[in-house]
This record gives sequence, C-alpha cells and structure tokens, in this order.
Amino acid sequence: MITTRFEYRKAESLEQALEIYEEFQGNATYLSGGTDLLPRVKLGLEKPRVVIDLKGIPSLSQVEDQGQWVRVGSLVRLFDLKQNSLVKELFPALQASLEATSCETLQMKGTIGGNLLQNTRCLFYNQSEFWRKSKGFCIKMGGEKCNAVPGAKRCFANYCSDNAVSLHTLSAELELLGPKGQRRIKLEQLYSNKSGKPFKLEPGEILASILIPKTKTLGDYEKLRVRGAIDYPLLGVAFSLVNGSGKLAIGGIGARPNAVELAHPIKDSLGEALNEVQKNINPVNNTVLDRDYRKRMIPVLASRVLNKVLERAN
Ligand SMILES: Cc1cc2nc3c(=O)[nH]c(=O)nc-3n(C[C@H](O)[C@H](O)[C@H](O)COP(=O)(O)OP(=O)(O)OC[C@H]3O[C@@H](n4cnc5c(N)ncnc54)[C@H](O)[C@@H]3O)c2cc1C
Repeated sequence: MITTRFEYRKAESLEQALEIYEEFQGNATYLSGGTDLLPRVKLGLEKPRVVIDLKGIPSLSQVEDQGQWVRVGSLVRLFDLKQNSLVKELFPALQASLEATSCETLQMKGTIGGNLLQNTRCLFYNQSEFWRKSKGFCIKMGGEKCNAVPGAKRCFANYCSDNAVSLHTLSAELELLGPKGQRRIKLEQLYSNKSGKPFKLEPGEILASILIPKTKTLGDYEKLRVRGAIDYPLLGVAFSLVNGSGKLAIGGIGARPNAVELAHPIKDSLGEALNEVQKNINPVNNTVLDRDYRKRMIPVLASRVLNKVLERAN
C-alpha cells in the first residue's frame, strides 16, 4: 500500500523535536518504532505533513533506577524492557504483558511510549480508505454514525495496549514535555475515556518517560486473543500485589483500561470488585470475537491471574 507524502525529520533533542513541531504549526506526528503510526498512515487514517522521528534522542532510550522510582524512557523498545533486570525482579505483571505483546519481531521495533500512545482500533475503522468510503465514514473519521453499533452517536473503538493494563496495576506515572512546558501525571489521567480521541495530551506534547514506584511486586497478565503468536488483546487482565495490596486492571475493551483495588481478603473480594468495575466495561461487536464472549471471559481471566499470583505469594 502506498503512503501519502510526508516530510521526514529526525530530532536530536527534545527541544529540537518541539522546534520542528512549531515550524510545521502542529501539522506533525511523532515517530518512535512506527509499528502503529505507519500502518495508520498507509491506511489514510492519518495524514501528517511531517513525521518527527524521536529515535535520535539518547535520553529517551534509557532505564534508570532513581531510588524511589524506576524511570523508563519512552523510546525503550519492548523487547529490551522485558529483558531489563529491574523489570524482571520488581514488576512481573509488566514483564508478562511485554511478553504477551504481539511477537518478538514487533517487540524489537515497538517502544513502550508508542505502545501507550497507540490509537484505538475497530474492525470497521482499521481498513483501507476505499473500504471505509464505501461504508460511509464513521464518527472516528469525522462522520456522524458508528458503523459497529447502528444508531449509536459515539465511538466504541478499543484501546489495545497490553502494557497500559499492567502499568495501571503498578500505579505508573508519566512525564510529558510540550510547547507549554513539562508536567507529570498519573497514567489514568492520560485517558479522555473517548474512543474517538483517546488521550488528554496537549498539542505537541511528547511522552518523555514512564515512572514506576520502585517496590518489589508480585503480578501477572492474562490475555484473550485469537492467534497466540501475534494478535492484539481482545481482553487483557493484569493483577499486581504491591506491599500486600492487590490491584486489578482490565483492558482491551473500550477507550481505556479500568482498574480496581481489591479489599482484604483479596480472593473473597474479587466478585464484588468485578461487579463494580464491569459497570464501566461494555464490549460491542467491533472485533473478531463476539461481545458476550469477551464479557464472559473477564471473570475467567481475572480469577486465573489472581489465583496464579496468590499461589506464588503463599
Ligand atoms: C501486527 C501488529 C500486532 C500488534 N499487536 C499488539 C499487541 O498484541 N499488543 C499491543 O499492545 N500492541 C500491539 N500492536 C500495536 C503497536 O505496534 C505496539 O503497541 C507498539 O509498541 C507501538 O510502538 P511504536 O514505537 O511502534 O509506536 P509508533 O507507531 O511510533 O507510535 C504510536 C503512536 O504514538 C505516538 N508517539 C510515539 N511515541 C511518542 C512519544 N514519545 N511522545 C508522543 N507521541 C508519541 C505516535 O505519533 C503514534 O501516534 C501491534 C501492531 C501490529 C502492527
């Protein structure tokens, strides 16, 4: 498939990346591994005037032990992160979600920042321009209808980052840098809860790093997908035990992951916690699996991941 024309610029510092962004008056997109962005450009879902490559900025590719926090540069590749000794020792839920992300070929190209900022997906949206035109543009493409749910006035595309789910259970935070300056937010504050425009980023903001509290945790991740060797999550469930407290997160359905703290005793509180969190989770038929099946699999994967982790804890 032939892409639309765009200019390619490589930044050597964060400041230079922002300067290029300003030079093109914001008609620009950042590039990390390109495994989400380039298929989108090829499908005509995005038409940037310039693509600003962040791979020339060395500070974005480092993992640092900062004492109370582990700082992960946004350009760290998924494959390198899953092999990192701090991740292996402290954050098993993250290591498991990295392992479950697509396949190793993609992990060697895709970055953790790009993984968190990947756009939402729908069977009726991630299609060629020709296909989408014949169906009529949907809400996510600026049209007025949803092609997945007849009559609906909002978008139901799914956010498919495996690693956002495990990072929720680890209470991760994000460092952002943009034309208006620097800020630090909790991961959950990244999301707008709107599938059409899933992130609350200021124009031109760059995700510089992900910060994870440096505590030894126990955890794991379970994923529902059709082909175990490569597919996106159709549902993902992570659980982490952090200083005795349990946090469960569910992703792959809707605009963002949903997280819930489990009261003690953890195993007994799962049912009630799931009832609470499932109020926010409404799958529709916009993936290759039926919505009811995906919904029914939530308690199945949640019990599976919880039992595995609690067994290890005993
Ligand atoms: C076949 C296939 C299977 C996949 N399977 C999975 C899967 O199982 N699980 C999963 O989670 N994902 C999956 N993905 C999605 C995606 O490729 C990966 O999540 C990957 O990690 C994205 O990272 P990247 O560096 O390639 O992102 P890019 O494509 O470079 O960027 C993604 C988006 O984030 C923006 N961006 C990137 N970095 C920054 C930054 N630092 N600051 C601001 N904006 C930024 C880009 O502009 C773009 O909009 C799959 C993709 C493909 C093609």
